[in-house]
Amino acid sequence: MFGLKSDWSLELPERYFTLEDYEGGVARWCPGCGDLAVLTAVQKILRDEQQPPEKTVCVSGIGCSSRFPHYMHTYGFHGLHGRALPVACGVKSRRPDLDVWVATGDGDCCSIGAGHWIHATRYNMDMVVMLFDNAVYGLTKKQTSPTSPRGLKTNTHPMGSWLPPLDPLCAMLGFTNVSFVAQTVDWNPVHLHATLREAHKHRGMSFVRILQRCPTYTAAVFEELQRDPSRLLLLKGDDNVAVDPAVMKIFPNQAEHDPSDIGAARALAETGSQGEKVPVGILFRDASRPCYEDFTMQGLGISAEDKLAGLKRELDKFAV
Ligand code: SF4
Ligand code: MG
Repeated sequence: MFGLKSDWSLELPERYFTLEDYEGGVARWCPGCGDLAVLTAVQKILRDEQQPPEKTVCVSGIGCSSRFPHYMHTYGFHGLHGRALPVACGVKSRRPDLDVWVATGDGDCCSIGAGHWIHATRYNMDMVVMLFDNAVYGLTKKQTSPTSPRGLKTNTHPMGSWLPPLDPLCAMLGFTNVSFVAQTVDWNPVHLHATLREAHKHRGMSFVRILQRCPTYTAAVFEELQRDPSRLLLLKGDDNVAVDPAVMKIFPNQAEHDPSDIGAARALAETGSQGEKVPVGILFRDASRPCYEDFTMQGLGISAEDKLAGLKRELDKFAV
């Protein structure tokens, strides 16, 4: 008939996301805080991969870095202290289609959240976990954290912290079912971006420890590492973080490292924990480790009627 089209398909204009599409509230971190570099890197990765904001979730616990979800224009959950990982696992188990990013700090992850940290690693759900390690509790104004270096003067240890610091890389490389461990620094935006991009590509829990400057409370902790790049060891190789040759030149010390070798990864982490040749790059990657959502997602699509029928069937087994 006149005026009627036989093809009713509707061509929608293709969506293109710009950096602004991922920008949330104005970041209220201190000037010079390393968190700002991480925020920029994540927004760039999402833009480059054209990841829809409504399919992205940022989850955090409590601390300076845990303000991260507020500054992203995605879904977000600013949770309780130490509880970022169980929330993220919950999101992933019901909505495995979402892209999950976790922002956690050295206090949040390695102290009050340490139990969750071990088990989330074992669950190995597909998410990027960014450990913003500034070696202090910053939000609550300078208390000793598990990663504070020995001798650091804080409000809880005014004469200097007593104990040797926990090394998050050594810990991770001892947890069951670990599948991705990397380290980078906030003051090298190219390496930071490239490391987080590799983490995002990996299927499983990608743990990235970011040595993060806190000019307000621990300015001296990473000062020497920034001033003297020979203290860092750039990990390179076909399966490692690839950066521009101009950026590689910044690192006088470089080493080929195959991230499938967990023994070599542990040795690198151990040396770095002594303050010598602090490794940056991917220490360990194994994409074959099982992911818990592969089990929890079974049956997600079944109807309410079928679920009820299944429950009834199971409960009937106890009928007397
Ligand atoms: Fe960043 Fe430190 Fe300020 Fe917190 S206290 S926002 S970590 S510089
Ligand atoms: Mg901290």
